[in-house]
Amino acid sequence: MRIFDGLSETDKLQLISQIKSLTGMTDVVNGSGTTTKRLKPLDQRDLEDNHREFIQKLTEKYEAFVPKSKANVPKHHYHFVDQRRNFHLIKEIKQLHFQITYEKAEGAYVHDIDGNKYIDISGDMGVNIFGHKAPFIVDAVKAALDRGIPLAGYSETIHNATKLISELTGHDRVLFTQSGTEAVMVATRIARAATNRKKIALFEGAYHGLSDVVMAMRDMQGNSLAAGPGMLQEFADQIIVLKYGDEESLDIIEANASEIAGVLVEPVQSRHIYNKPVEFLKELRNITIEKDIPLIFDEMITGFRVSPKGAQGIFNITPDISTYGKIPGGGLPTGLVAGSQKYMDLIDGGTWEFGDDSMPKSKRVGMGGTHSQNPLKVASAYATMKQIKKELEKREDKCSKSCNFHSHTCQNMYCKLNTRTMRMVEELNQYFVEHNLPITIDFFGSLFRFRYIDSYWGITEALMFLLMRMNGVETNIQGNCFITTAHTDEDIRKVIEAVKKSLQTLIKEGFFYEAPVEAPKEEFFTETPAPAPVQQPTQTHTQEQINTNDSQLQKLKDLLVRDLKRFNQ
Ligand code: PMP
Repeated sequence: MRIFDGLSETDKLQLISQIKSLTGMTDVVNGSGTTTKRLKPLDQRDLEDNHREFIQKLTEKYEAFVPKSKANVPKHHYHFVDQRRNFHLIKEIKQLHFQITYEKAEGAYVHDIDGNKYIDISGDMGVNIFGHKAPFIVDAVKAALDRGIPLAGYSETIHNATKLISELTGHDRVLFTQSGTEAVMVATRIARAATNRKKIALFEGAYHGLSDVVMAMRDMQGNSLAAGPGMLQEFADQIIVLKYGDEESLDIIEANASEIAGVLVEPVQSRHIYNKPVEFLKELRNITIEKDIPLIFDEMITGFRVSPKGAQGIFNITPDISTYGKIPGGGLPTGLVAGSQKYMDLIDGGTWEFGDDSMPKSKRVGMGGTHSQNPLKVASAYATMKQIKKELEKREDKCSKSCNFHSHTCQNMYCKLNTRTMRMVEELNQYFVEHNLPITIDFFGSLFRFRYIDSYWGITEALMFLLMRMNGVETNIQGNCFITTAHTDEDIRKVIEAVKKSLQTLIKEGFFYEAPVEAPKEEFFTETPAPAPVQQPTQTHTQEQINTNDSQLQKLKDLLVRDLKRFNQ
């Protein structure tokens, strides 16, 4: 309870919704202290005539709202191949499912070819932390363009950029790649070369880019499986997929240390932002040091987003190698590998001096990329880094010691962004609780994500994002949303209002309903242990294990519910 009391209001709300989804409780503790039933989102299989009628009217409205974007679908669907087009496609609303065609983007806004202007919280998949067309980036890229785009040699800009990236991330040495996927590939190759071991351990729920080196799924027995068509089991066999934040995963790493070339972690998985297992990560750091396994943090989204170093800066954990991308490209394609000299020397053999007989000391792994050091993106990276450094100089002394970039008063961009996002999320999460909505927003710094608690991507969720667009807010269909320095308080207020307005429409049109209470849910609020639910034995669990697990789960539920009750009081 003491730990719970010490949490921020947002963390409390997030924890409560997490516990509820874990324990299957449908009751909601609302603002007035009474309990009401949490609503459920309608599923496409349960549509009735009134819902279909609403969808029909909405379709007509939407077609009138974005006619040119819609007309582009039949015109260009055939030639232009893009998997995102069919992402989250729901048959019952397929006439509403198409990408809008953008015309331009500026500051916090995107404009479409139908003349609509949206507040953009898609954040370009996490890239443009300064919003669109940040003048200092535009100027730097224009100047680079004027100088021509020589690809073979070096420039003063790349010298300055890598030095500054080292300074900001705290890593000894840095290299540019063409994409985040490549950065992860290079980092794992370094790890394999350094250890002469084969396997890469990574965690379920993370995403590390497209390469076969990191693409595998975990089955119920913990085996690694090829993640989809075109991916080979032979590659998956070299990957150990572990549960994230689970003590057992640490045991597996320890037990298999002699085979593991590297442990690859997305410290806060952008798809599961609520999970921030700091103690687990600290233990993982200790074990990997002890077993001499390179620890790689993939901070593609969190790097330069929550703090310059990323999650490692907030959690105070230093990996051996980090992969970055997105923000450091300043809008142009890039990836970065940054790490300690011991590992990064495996790329170029390490430094040597003029005037003596020194030569590269270490072996070298294969690495290249025609556009890895493209002058346009290096210029935009350097401009971005310089701006971040300038912002950090605004950090107050007392703030830097205690706030972890969450100060309400400090004027540097991270404190401002993180605090603003937190306030927006707090207000919306409070709204969801007060209206018994099965939604929560998870966030980390200025990254946030809407989450429907008991369901995964149904028609109600899809309609919410569509209505938000019609209410002037553009989100990312893949789920991650971002606040940028270009968003004003007024923009954020409009986002909050658009979310509320969209949900009000869905409530009014019957897309949320009161779920029938499943007996004996009341007992969760009486401290009386409920009977253990009956489970069918599976191949891997004996009935005895199931009963033990059930009774342990029940004890945990009772403890959590008691705490929830006290919190509510
Ligand atoms: N790692 C993480 C954590 C990512 O989120 C991504 C992309 N979203 C990648 C790697 C791959 O980066 P890219 O798309 O630039 O190849």
